[in-house]
Amino acid sequence: MTISRLRTPRQGFMPPFVLERIIERGGARLQACARQTLNADHGFRAGRAPAPVADEALPAGSPTPGEPARYVYSAEQRQVLPGTLMREEGQGATNDPAVDEAYRWLGATYRFYWEVFERHSIDRQGMPLLGTVHYGQDYENAFWNGTQMVFGDGDGELFNRFTAALDVVAHELAHGVTERDAGLIYAGQSGALNESLSDVFGSLTKQYHLGHSAAEADWLIGAELLTERVQGRALRSMAAPGTAYDDPVLGQDPQPGHMTDYVETESDNGGVHINSGIPNRAFHLTATTLGGYAWKAPGRIWYDTLQDRRLTRDIDFVGFATLTVDNADQRFGSRSREVEAVREAWHGVGVLS
Ligand SMILES: [Zn+2]
Repeated sequence: MTISRLRTPRQGFMPPFVLERIIERGGARLQACARQTLNADHGFRAGRAPAPVADEALPAGSPTPGEPARYVYSAEQRQVLPGTLMREEGQGATNDPAVDEAYRWLGATYRFYWEVFERHSIDRQGMPLLGTVHYGQDYENAFWNGTQMVFGDGDGELFNRFTAALDVVAHELAHGVTERDAGLIYAGQSGALNESLSDVFGSLTKQYHLGHSAAEADWLIGAELLTERVQGRALRSMAAPGTAYDDPVLGQDPQPGHMTDYVETESDNGGVHINSGIPNRAFHLTATTLGGYAWKAPGRIWYDTLQDRRLTRDIDFVGFATLTVDNADQRFGSRSREVEAVREAWHGVGVLS
């Protein structure tokens, strides 16, 4: 666990460019919220973060495959981890919505990985699922620190509390899974793939929870985070990258959905939250072409690829796309409609010719 923590300093849900826009365009209070969120995140990167829980101090995991071990804490508006234990596995609701949402969504995410992939928590060995809510004041982010989930309450004007969205929880836990299985470097194209895998499995967790088919799913990421004041539907759209929001304060969703619009940038670790739109759309195209439940064949192919030993830490889009085609071939056969759908999807976003 210590190693993964070192390799994954910090992957917040909120892209830094969104917070930077709020500092440029927001009112005084919103500017202050965004600035202190970025400061907290930079402090985290600079090693001034609150010390993570020592491994030996972690609560017990779950010895029983199929059953999670959840622990939800409150930081009581301070920047401390893990904080005060509010609810643990098997205990009833606390009537604090943030605590109860975190508990519920950690459970839904556990259930998705167990029932769909027979994976017993992030490490396959029942690792406890820890969440801390009410982190900081007006903190506009949620993150996974290698050991646990952390949620801010949002600013209440643009963003609701970060426990509101199941796909935010599932996105962050998926970073833990990707870290363990593939260790994709969080920069450039491998970083955009890392982000995309979290959106794919985050969205699949939500689709599984709701029982939605590929046609019924909204394919949005973070829809519940946005208040009614924001002109937008979510932070990202996997079906139509670049269309999630267009708002006076937040600006326009910068995601491309095709390689011709690939964004070369130094910021955001080389555009990891921007260019992830391209592989996100490839997954959406695969799922909607095949129809039915997206966690079945499409989810299985992407999950198989994540376990593939040929998946290098610095893989690019072409390398990843080629591996998904190969994994579809191995599982479903070279003449299968699954292979055809995956190949056509990557062709459709300009990654494979
Ligand atoms: Zn992420």
